[in-house]
Amino acid sequence: MIKNSKKLLEFKYLNQLFHRVRIVDPIKKIVIEENGEKTTENKKCFHLCNRDTICENCISIRAYNENTSVMKFEYIDNNIYMIMATPVNKQESTYVIETIRDISDCKIVDLVEDKTVSELKKTLSEINRLIVIDELTKCYNRRYINEKLPIDIESAKANKLPLSIAMIDIDYFKLINDKYGHLLGDLVLKDITNVIKNNIRGKSDWIARYGGEEFLILFNDTSKEDAYNLSKRIKSVVENSIFKYDDIEINITISIGIASLTSEIDDMDKLIRKADEKLYKAKRSGRNYISK
Ligand code: GH3
Ligand code: MG
Ligand code: MG
Repeated sequence: MIKNSKKLLEFKYLNQLFHRVRIVDPIKKIVIEENGEKTTENKKCFHLCNRDTICENCISIRAYNENTSVMKFEYIDNNIYMIMATPVNKQESTYVIETIRDISDCKIVDLVEDKTVSELKKTLSEINRLIVIDELTKCYNRRYINEKLPIDIESAKANKLPLSIAMIDIDYFKLINDKYGHLLGDLVLKDITNVIKNNIRGKSDWIARYGGEEFLILFNDTSKEDAYNLSKRIKSVVENSIFKYDDIEINITISIGIASLTSEIDDMDKLIRKADEKLYKAKRSGRNYISK
């Protein structure tokens, strides 16, 4: 038995395990401390990845939402980084500790072998992207909604900007499956997604599959009235599209419920609940209808 053994692991050795250790506010996306020092300016966490906007595969919010550690790889400036996010309670709030290690020189042979740098970069960004993408329709998935919507809401509140969402449900979609089969139903779902995707504003807005044949569109910096007008256009493009599969031609309509951020509707759950209520109202109004 070793008596009076000296502690072997000192905090300073952490520097050798990790190149950066930082505390991040997962909602505001701000770095609060880095390598033991408080950060002074409003330093955004995604600047590390040379991005000027939030990472699609943001792991700090995932660690925070799921209350567990989450890891990802990023390719930054010709180096591969392993980033691990772990939630911690600090001063009654939950923050996320991110440990960041440059693993370019580590023996991650299986991952790197036979791959050119550009192939590797592509593989890593593809892995990061797939986590938040819906397999069938290739738009964002439900996980992305849970991770990105609270952040967009906080950002809208902080900047005193309006924010709206639209819940979209395809009308009588079961009939299409019943008449033509699920495989063709799948094709229709894919094609409708593309039609909607091509008719939302690329930079500020995004669309995700909420589930089944339901989708959510996020309209940043958009009042309820403007979201209504944008939705009207989307509804009419879908209505006027013909979905063609060999000799089958299908017409489709959608119903939409719109909700906006207010002093009462001030978080993700309330916003989605309100949009859902409005969607059911649109359905009750006879479908191919928008309710706000
Ligand atoms: P409503 O106008 O009231 O919305 O009628 P609906 O038939 O669209 O509504 P309902 O909720 O009864 O049916 C939704 C259908 O969507 C049922 C389900 O089979 C179909 N669906 C959900 N996800 C998928 C999918 O991934 N692929 C296919 N092909 N169908 C799906
Ligand atoms: Mg439905
Ligand atoms: Mg439906």
